[in-house]
Amino acid sequence: MAIVEPMSSTPEGRRRLAIRSPATRQPVGEIVVSSPADVAEAIAGARDAQMEWRRVPLAERARIVRGAIDLLVEKREEVIRTIIDETGKTRLESLMMEILPGCDYLNFWCARAMKELSDEKRRLHGYLRPFKKLLIHYRPLGVIGVITPWNGPFSLAINPMTQAVLAGNAVILKPSEVAPYSGAWAVQLLREAGVPEGVVQTVHGDGETGAALVNGGVQKISFTGSVRTGKKIAAACAEQLIPYTLELGGKDAMIVCADADLERAAGGAVFNSMLNTGHVCMGVERIYVVESVADEFEERVKNIVSGLRYGLGDDVDVGSVFWDRQLPIIERHIEDAKAKGAEIVVGGEADTTLGLFYKPTFVRKVDHTMELMREETFGPIVSVMRVADEEEAIRLANDSHYGLSGSVWTKDIDKGIEIAKRLETGSVVINDASMAYGAPEAPFGGLKDSGVGQVNGLGGLRSYTHPQPILIDRWSMKKERVWYPHTPETIEEIDGMIRFIYGGALKRLGFFS
Ligand code: NAD
Repeated sequence: MAIVEPMSSTPEGRRRLAIRSPATRQPVGEIVVSSPADVAEAIAGARDAQMEWRRVPLAERARIVRGAIDLLVEKREEVIRTIIDETGKTRLESLMMEILPGCDYLNFWCARAMKELSDEKRRLHGYLRPFKKLLIHYRPLGVIGVITPWNGPFSLAINPMTQAVLAGNAVILKPSEVAPYSGAWAVQLLREAGVPEGVVQTVHGDGETGAALVNGGVQKISFTGSVRTGKKIAAACAEQLIPYTLELGGKDAMIVCADADLERAAGGAVFNSMLNTGHVCMGVERIYVVESVADEFEERVKNIVSGLRYGLGDDVDVGSVFWDRQLPIIERHIEDAKAKGAEIVVGGEADTTLGLFYKPTFVRKVDHTMELMREETFGPIVSVMRVADEEEAIRLANDSHYGLSGSVWTKDIDKGIEIAKRLETGSVVINDASMAYGAPEAPFGGLKDSGVGQVNGLGGLRSYTHPQPILIDRWSMKKERVWYPHTPETIEEIDGMIRFIYGGALKRLGFFS
C-alpha cells in the first residue's frame, strides 16, 4: 500500500518514483529524481536569473507576482485535482487550506512589498545625526532553497516562494516526494504570471535531492518538515554559514477552562484535531479539560465524532491518511494508549479496504505515559485528558519537547491571555486553534524542538533579504576630526563631547537619544 514507490530507472540511469493516490491506490504520476548534478545546474541557472530579476523594479516584481492570484482563482479546479489525487484530502480542506491561503499570501505580500522592501532612510540618533545619514537597502540574498512537507503541499510552497521572489531572490523548490505536483503548481503559476523560468524552479526527489539543494551553494534554506530532517539541515547550513528557518513538528495542547463555551470548545476540538486528517503541524493533538466540565465536554465530543463521515468525495468530512508511512505511527500510538489504559470511545482503527483511511477517533483517559500525548501522531484523533484545574493544564501543556502552538478556551479573554503567556509555545490562539500560520501578520515559528527562527509577520519579506546599511557622510569635509594625526586637542575635544553629552543634564533630559 505504498504511495511513493521506486520504479525502474530511466534509460539514462535516473531514479524514478511512482506516486499513487492514498485514497484510491490508483497511480497519479511519477517523478524523475533530480540528481545532485541536476540540482547544481538549477542553482547555477537560478544565480544568473536572479542577477536580472533583482534589477526589475520592485513595483514591477509585485505587479508580476500579483498576476498569480488571477491564475490561481482561474485554475483552482486543476490545482485542487492534483492536491486531492496526491493527498486524499477533502475538497473543502483543499479550498480552505491551500487555495484560499494561497490567494491570501500572494495578495498580502504583494500589497506589503513596497513598504517593506523599498530602500529606507533611517534617522540616526544623538551625536551621529549631524554628521552622517543612514539608508537601509533590503538586499536580496540570492538563491533560496525552499523545502516543503506533504501535509500542506501547495500553501507551504507558495507562501515562502512569494516572499522570496518579491524580495528579488531566485527560488528552487524541492517539494515533498509524497505530493510533488501539488507543490510544483506554485512554480508553474508564478511562471505563468511572468516570473522568469530561471527565477522559480522545481527540483523533484526525496531526501537525497533535498540534501543536494541544501549543500549546493544557495544563500538561505526555508525548511518545513520533521524535527529529524530539520536537525540535519541545521547542521549543513551551519557548516556553510548560511541562514535558515526551520518550521518543524508540534504536539499542540488545547486547554479547556471551566468557563469555556463548551459547545464551541467541543466543535473546535474535533475540527482542529481532524482537520487535514490530523496532518496539521499546529493542529490539536492533546486536550486538557478541567474536571468540572469534562463530562459535558466529552459527551459533546463523542456526539460530533460519531457523526463524522470519512472517505473520498464531496460529502465526507475527513479524508484519507496522506502517506502510507504515517498510518503505522497512528496505529502504534493508539495501541500503546489502549495498552496503558486509554478508552477508545469512537473509532480507533484503520479502514484500508479502499485506501489509507483511519476512522475518526475519540480517545479519553489518556496520560503522559502514552506516545499519543508525547509524540506527533498526525492522525484524525481527539485525545482528551482530564485535569484538576487550569494550573495542572498549563503544567502538562508545557511538559513537551515540542513548542509550536497551542490554544486556550475560555470566556474570560484576559485570563486566556495570561495563560497564553505562560505557554512555552511559539504562538497561542484563544477560542480557536490551527490558526497562527494563516494570519500572515503574525510571526510564526516554534520553540523547543518545533523550530528555529520565525516566518511571516510584519517584516517577513525582509527575512529574505540582508538589510544592508549604507552610511553616508553628510558634509564630505577634507578630514574627520579623529583622523590622523592625533593631538592633545582632538583627545580633549572627544573627551569634552563625552562629558557634555553623557556626563550631565543633557543625558537626563534625553537629548541625543
Ligand atoms: P520530512 O522532514 O520527512 O520531509 C520534509 C521535506 O524534506 C521533504 O521534501 C523531504 O523530501 C525533504 N528531506 C528529507 N530528508 C532531507 C535531507 N536530508 N535534506 C534535505 N531535505 C530532506 O517531513 P514530512 O514528513 O514531509 O512532513 C511532516 C512534518 O512536517 C511534520 O512533523 C509536521 O509537523 C511538519 N510541519 C511543520 C510545519 C510548520 O510550519 N512548523 C508545517 C507543516 C508541517
